[in-house]
Amino acid sequence: KNEFLLKQQAHRESNARSYPRRIPIAIEEAEGIFVKDVNGKIYYDCLAGAGTLALGHNHPVIIEAIQQVIKDKRPLHTLDLTTPVKEEFVTELFDSLPKEFAPKAKIQFCGPTGGDAIEAAIKLTKTATGRQSILSFQGGYHGSTHGTMALSGNLGPKEKVRGLMPNVHFLPYPYTYRDPFGIGGEESHRISSQYIENLLDDPESGILAPAAMILEVVQGEGGSIPAPIEWLQEMRRITKERGIPLIIDEVQTGIGRTGEFFAFEHAGIVPDVLVLSKAIGGSLPLSVVVYDKALDQWSPGAHIGTFRGNQMAMAAGTATLNFIKEQDLSGHAKRMGELLSEKLEQIQLSYPQIGDVRGRGLMIGAEIVNPEGKKGKNGSHPAAPSLASAIQRECFNRGLILEVGGRHGSVVRFLPPLIITEEQVLDVAWIFEQAIQEAVN
Ligand code: PMP
Repeated sequence: KNEFLLKQQAHRESNARSYPRRIPIAIEEAEGIFVKDVNGKIYYDCLAGAGTLALGHNHPVIIEAIQQVIKDKRPLHTLDLTTPVKEEFVTELFDSLPKEFAPKAKIQFCGPTGGDAIEAAIKLTKTATGRQSILSFQGGYHGSTHGTMALSGNLGPKEKVRGLMPNVHFLPYPYTYRDPFGIGGEESHRISSQYIENLLDDPESGILAPAAMILEVVQGEGGSIPAPIEWLQEMRRITKERGIPLIIDEVQTGIGRTGEFFAFEHAGIVPDVLVLSKAIGGSLPLSVVVYDKALDQWSPGAHIGTFRGNQMAMAAGTATLNFIKEQDLSGHAKRMGELLSEKLEQIQLSYPQIGDVRGRGLMIGAEIVNPEGKKGKNGSHPAAPSLASAIQRECFNRGLILEVGGRHGSVVRFLPPLIITEEQVLDVAWIFEQAIQEAVN
């Protein structure tokens, strides 16, 4: 049955389809961390909609919230006209913001995807500053539209699409395993911030006054790379001192995933613009930009769109935000993430093919390398993308869905729902160990 549906999909859907190529499954049912395919085989879902399913599949509080919308005859679509459902969502979201941010925050509802909200954030900061260049980071991922592709590091999809948004300047991200400065440790972060500061202050750096700096606190698609806390604090200082709005893209990291409600909270900083999507819609499509009202220089109608703020998604989102706070799922994600990292590090002792285990909370990556390959200047072994794919395949065969990503397609990424239990973490690590054993032999 799987094969028939997959064949139909391959026949009818675009050649651009991506996940189904590596995860050849037709899903019939799903609950919590599990999905069941049409043949009745059950899998752990540690991709979880690329980090979207914070509460896992079909969580009762989400189902109830959706059913309530229907029972109460709430409108399903209102453009951006307000409703009690929207008011509740905004209140719940603003209540979740840090105290320094909430009183000065404004919200813009965007189209259904993370990329839509990034587009809005760029338009917002360009409008407010009257400037046009944007500072982004190597390895960053912000979406698949013309604007967001221009902000993303991955050249693969960019090369064939001419005429992307101009004036994006890429800066080195503190990828400690493959340190861009080849030094490692704190010294490298210091040099990184000095380098960036120098670029901004040098009248001959060639960089026009930036409208914004955009960054991920933990690069997701770039390979689950957490930025060091001090470096994040430096980026905040540098942008603040120069009046450059700081956009933090929490599309993947937001809402508990990294062990804090927002990932920027690890560094005790506050962005000027916060971009949220994925988990905030409780499995349904929703994206927003939350920003310092000083930036609200938009004129009426400056950012419109039909599907801004799906009512069902807002109801599911309110239930999700509320549940995460009530159950302290951020704290749980931190503990489960530590346990999973610890297990992966133990496995690493027997498998030098795992070059690096890293992440924050339940956003963890294991970078797969060739331990016999010549070490680069930064002291790391060469990436081993085909081995990473083989491990992913072996995991899949054993009932574990994982994503592979990163610069070289060599990072096995763990993004389970935040509700994962200790027992399940151990089981996932065990399957991964069996898979790597099979793949390296
Ligand atoms: N920013 C980040 C950090 C992301 O991880 C993603 C999606 N993986 C996006 C933006 C784009 O979101 P979407 O796919 O919903 O457009």
